[in-house]
Amino acid sequence: MGMNGSSTTELTLDNCMLSIDDMIGGEGGGFDIIAKSLAGGRISVGAMSVGLGSRAFLEALSYARERIQFGRAISSFQAIQFMLADMSVLLEASRLLVRQAAVARDGGEDYSAAASMAKTFASDAAMKITTDAVQILGGYGYLRSFKVERYMRQAKLFQIAEGTNEIQRLLIAKAILTRSDH
Ligand SMILES: Cc1cc2nc3c(=O)[nH]c(=O)nc-3n(C[C@H](O)[C@H](O)[C@H](O)COP(=O)(O)OP(=O)(O)OC[C@H]3O[C@@H](n4cnc5c(N)ncnc54)[C@H](O)[C@@H]3O)c2cc1C
Repeated sequence: MGMNGSSTTELTLDNCMLSIDDMIGGEGGGFDIIAKSLAGGRISVGAMSVGLGSRAFLEALSYARERIQFGRAISSFQAIQFMLADMSVLLEASRLLVRQAAVARDGGEDYSAAASMAKTFASDAAMKITTDAVQILGGYGYLRSFKVERYMRQAKLFQIAEGTNEIQRLLIAKAILTRSDH
């Protein structure tokens, strides 16, 4: 559907013998290692969502300023202005959540819930922003010759990969419910 610049394939290990020295971490510690690695990846997915959303926003903004309908640039219509305003709000909020998770990670704090929040919000935002960018470009938005339809297909992956957003919501809820300070 998208992300064709990144090749994705199944990896199968069949009858693969390893020595004890090949073990990563301690015995039984694999889940913690993969959980930490996924949490870090979620900050990256959040950051990629911000980048993708920003590009889609700029394409939509530029088109809205140039496209003339009924004798006016479509950017002068309030319906288009509201879409651009919402895109801008979602982008700013996504950027802050991603930054907050990254700062927590750099500071050695437990950042897993912050990473889940950043990934979920920013990818949902990128989906909305890219879909609205297609809407602002109208029929051209649906054509392969313009880039926004590709951005929309790519945004979908960010809601799925590195743990779906449904799973992120479960993780966020678990973090909230196990906290003792509220
Ligand atoms: C392009 C691409 C690249 C990928 N790259 C990698 C990679 O590099 N490494 C890697 O390990 N994986 C990779 N994946 C896999 C990706 O992480 C999984 O597809 C993703 O985690 C979802 O798992 P699933 O496909 O098994 O969906 P499923 O778990 O079958 O989920 C299907 C649906 O059910 C929902 N669901 C499942 N369980 C629950 C639940 N408990 N509560 C509520 N809803 C639930 C999901 O949210 C989803 O909507 C990649 C996938 C794609 C498409």
